Amino acid sequence: MAFLDSLGVADKEVYSAIALETKRQEEGLELIPSENFVSRAVMEAAGSTLTNKYSEGYSGKRYYGGNKYIDIVEDLAIERAKKLFGAEHVNVQPYSGSPANIEVYFALLSFGGKIMGMSLAQGGHLTHGHKVNFSGKAYEIISYGVEEKTHRINYDEVRKLAKEHKPKLIVSGATAYPREIDFKQFAEIAEEVGAVSMADISHIAGLIIGGVHPSPFPFTDIVTTTTHKTLRGPRGAMIMCKEKFAKEIDRAVFPGMQGGPHNHITAAKAVAFGEALKPEFKEYARQIVKNARALAEELMAQGFDVVSGGTDNHLILIDLTNKEISGKQAEGALDESNITCNKNMVPFDKRSPFDPSGIRLGTPALTTRGMKEGEMKEVGSFIARVISNWQDEEVKRKVKGEVVELTKRFPLYPNLYRM
Ligand SMILES: *Cc1c(COP(=O)(O)O)cnc(C)c1O
Repeated sequence: MAFLDSLGVADKEVYSAIALETKRQEEGLELIPSENFVSRAVMEAAGSTLTNKYSEGYSGKRYYGGNKYIDIVEDLAIERAKKLFGAEHVNVQPYSGSPANIEVYFALLSFGGKIMGMSLAQGGHLTHGHKVNFSGKAYEIISYGVEEKTHRINYDEVRKLAKEHKPKLIVSGATAYPREIDFKQFAEIAEEVGAVSMADISHIAGLIIGGVHPSPFPFTDIVTTTTHKTLRGPRGAMIMCKEKFAKEIDRAVFPGMQGGPHNHITAAKAVAFGEALKPEFKEYARQIVKNARALAEELMAQGFDVVSGGTDNHLILIDLTNKEISGKQAEGALDESNITCNKNMVPFDKRSPFDPSGIRLGTPALTTRGMKEGEMKEVGSFIARVISNWQDEEVKRKVKGEVVELTKRFPLYPNLYRM
């Protein structure tokens, strides 16, 4: 029975879709900067019996019986997260990055309160105040962006805007910003105007752990992060904060916004945090950044316009305006050659978000596979060949063959979900 109800036997339709997706991941170059490949240990925890349990509340104070072992798991996740970042207080229950951010807003502001965040069009996240998002509808948003000449945040401008509008909360952090973020400056600006400071480190959490990006701790009041990007854990998030905000944050997560925590995911978070505490993870983070630099250099050598002239972190934004191809067309052509990336607005983009001028590339996933600078040069030349010949079926087919050959040297999940 145990064998008969395994997925491959019990549900061939879902199994085969998973098998095909696994093959796609194996045979492609994953360059979406917000994606990564988790270990089998993380996947096992995420697929465990903990999915069966209700445990509304917090460790030692649950609304359901039978939570002795769930408490162990949640406590482990919290302790490990504290150690990783040096955080005073951690809540590991947020379902994902977007709910985590909303929970912080809910904890600190009344509806209509003023939040300052980076605009989506210039690198921020939807939940930092975009008008179609809950954040932009429920709160008054003051947006900052980057400087037209340098494509970098101008902290004097941020300070000026903060002084003028006096927001209650200042959010730093981004999804498409290739440069270092000065969290210290943001915290100082918040202090100067009497605002709470929040850093959303979703994209760069792993780099901070690895010491290759400055940390927002200990001076930032609240720090949110997803757990599935450079941190290389399951899809999910957490909120970290100074002790003085602990009660409000916990109350906003449960019962304010969420019901029962996803315990199987909490277990997978704990496993991923355990992995991130090991010295090898620091080496991994360093390699992500080295790879991003190598890829950016190769692309610039191939005549690409790299936004801000390079990268300090794991991601690269390319402005394709000089290439006679739109972001959407580039995404599509690269996909045909098994290279996955996403179209993206570039700062001061004249095109629409549905077909913007740029693409966004990142190295966390390829670095997990073990690729280094040498492979990044190859990847850069694949991208250049596809984009210069994006309507040539023969070139795209040829590059696809070479991509598959390259991926075979870096196996991902051997023997998992085979057809
Ligand atoms: C990815 C991301 C989020 C949202 O995370 P989801 O898990 O997709 O909801 C929030 N903020 C930033 C900066 C992100 O990069």
